[in-house]
Amino acid sequence: AKDPKVIDGKAFAEGLRAKLARQVATLKEKHGFVPGLAVVLVGEDPASKVYVRNKGEQTKASGMASFEHKLDAATSQADLLALIDTLNKDPKVNGILCQLPVPKQIDPQAIIDAIDPDKDVDGFHVVNAGRLATGGKGLVPCTPYGCLLLLKDRLGDLAGKHAVVIGRSNIVGKPMAQLLLNESCTVTIAHSKTKDLPGEVRRADIVVAAVGRPEMVKGDWIKEGAVVIDVGINRIEKDGKGKLVGDVDYASCYPKASAITPVPGGVGPMTIALLLNNTLIAACRQHKVALPE
Ligand code: NDP
Repeated sequence: AKDPKVIDGKAFAEGLRAKLARQVATLKEKHGFVPGLAVVLVGEDPASKVYVRNKGEQTKASGMASFEHKLDAATSQADLLALIDTLNKDPKVNGILCQLPVPKQIDPQAIIDAIDPDKDVDGFHVVNAGRLATGGKGLVPCTPYGCLLLLKDRLGDLAGKHAVVIGRSNIVGKPMAQLLLNESCTVTIAHSKTKDLPGEVRRADIVVAAVGRPEMVKGDWIKEGAVVIDVGINRIEKDGKGKLVGDVDYASCYPKASAITPVPGGVGPMTIALLLNNTLIAACRQHKVALPE
């Protein structure tokens, strides 16, 4: 039997993708188009290659069109910008994503800035960050968006809850804090200069750890009954074997938490599902049709 305390992101993401596939089928039938996602990979980073392959496969599995652009590691910034410009203008492409990191001759910020905000399915463009901060209709970064859906599924209304987000990156921590604020949580953002991290975390009804430090959050930091969301993906050596662990020390936090995401199988699988969801949203907006039920 399934442990009800464990938040099963894998199953949740599968459910989301099944719904997406139905929505895509409806769009095709009623409006004669399918959403298209272009993924650009520059170079040979092994982790990035796996991500790009998974994104392409899941895009196709949902019935959407997948456009993969694999560029040589020596590609110039000008050539990459030219490709982005072509994709911005291509009506079949509703979402554009450039897999980060990019090789060092390319400024990642210049690439993010060049993507049409309405096709920016990663939600990293300053216009989308601004829309998230000011209540506008933008595209929301996939990983924090996935965390929010898991939290709402578990807790329902989040209003008034005290949330502590550990990490303030533009791709996870900051948008996560913004999303929780939009749900009327009281939000604390902790980072490397935070004075008493365990003390801050002890006040939290909701803990989101996005730090990049293996098993940093300990059980005695967790308030009894808190919900713990672990964004971390850290590869460590244990007993001579490679192992994937989160930013949360699962063994010690599990007994204190009312619900907790495992690594792997928690937040990780949500990210691509939300990427596809963003592509669907972007496509419907570009075609000026309502999002299918
Ligand atoms: P970054 O390295 O960009 O940000 C890490 C943040 O953690 C920074 O704000 C940093 O603070 C803070 N930090 C570092 N050390 C400490 C500390 N000792 N105490 C408190 N805060 C600290 O990482 P990302 O946000 O990109 O990613 C975070 C984690 O999430 C990583 O493990 C990454 O692999 C994972 N991840 C998972 C995804 C998924 O599930 N699909 C997607 C994206 C990321 P400061 O700002 O002061 O330096």
